[in-house]
Amino acid sequence: MSTGAQPPGRWPSAATNVVGVIGDPVAHSLSPLLHNTAFRALGLDWVSVGFPVPEGSAADALVGMRALGLAGLSVTMPHKAAVAGLVDERTAVAERLGAVNCVVRRHDRLVGDNTDGIGLVASLHHGAAVDVDGKRCLVIGAGGAARAAVLALADAGASEVVVVNRTAARAEAAAALAGGRGRVGAPSDAASAQVVVQATPAGMAGTASEHLAPLVGPELLGAGQVVVDLVYHPLRTPFLAAAEARGATVLGGLGMLVHQAAAQLAAWTGLEQPVRAMWQAAQAATASTPEAPEVAAGP
Ligand code: NAP
Repeated sequence: MSTGAQPPGRWPSAATNVVGVIGDPVAHSLSPLLHNTAFRALGLDWVSVGFPVPEGSAADALVGMRALGLAGLSVTMPHKAAVAGLVDERTAVAERLGAVNCVVRRHDRLVGDNTDGIGLVASLHHGAAVDVDGKRCLVIGAGGAARAAVLALADAGASEVVVVNRTAARAEAAAALAGGRGRVGAPSDAASAQVVVQATPAGMAGTASEHLAPLVGPELLGAGQVVVDLVYHPLRTPFLAAAEARGATVLGGLGMLVHQAAAQLAAWTGLEQPVRAMWQAAQAATASTPEAPEVAAGP
């Protein structure tokens, strides 16, 4: 596989490196845009394409990846757990999460990684100047995104990671990812948290969860806290708007999306990524979202 420059005038060509994004649905995924923005900015002869893969067909997609020689695969809902069981190797993070969002080719072997958590930590660092080390954190939710958040916050040195979730058993399993610093909590724990991560689909426009209120009410939040909502459509969820009105520093989910994509690109190409260009492309693609600039402080 070459990381050589795009040949002017005849791109893509038979030599172009192709990466795929698999999901169901995948048509509205911003990942190909983020990847292709980076490839263009770096002048690489690579292209990213979305492939709709129905639930239950991840194994076929991996066979296709091997047969077609795809240079990498980005994995989104509902395939992250299935792909973790199909790759030849998993990174330590993917192993602990049991979920893969990125497949990297190492010669003839496929390595599964998960960049969601480091995407969140990088977004907190670059978008809100927050260093998680030593911070009391609270995560709302215990699904795939929440689990990645819990593990990454603990790995980044959080002093505790409290999980609040509807289903107790899933909350226990998520909190366990933080080892001795993880525990299941109640919504009232949010009042003493320094970093709050909303990791359920509550408030996500155009879905059944659009009018769902997160388990932690904004009345528990205020000045001195950083509140992140992983939902990025809209960038300014009602939850974030209410938290900001009470004095909290708020951050939308777009920064995490950009940084997890940048980490995937770095794993595939071995190169430092043009995060600012990717951030600008993501913002332009979601520009119709009201009040985006205030929420999304930067990459
Ligand atoms: P998931 O695995 O399906 O988990 C959903 C979580 O939300 C679970 O904890 C579930 O609780 C909870 N939940 C769902 N409906 C609920 C309800 N009616 N009442 C209370 N709790 C409810 O989903 P996911 O993959 O973690 O994604 C969660 C959100 O994060 C999505 O909006 C997704 O778009 C976003 N996300 C963003 C990024 C990013 O880069 N910004 C990355 C990944 C995901 P139970 O355990 O009780 O079922």
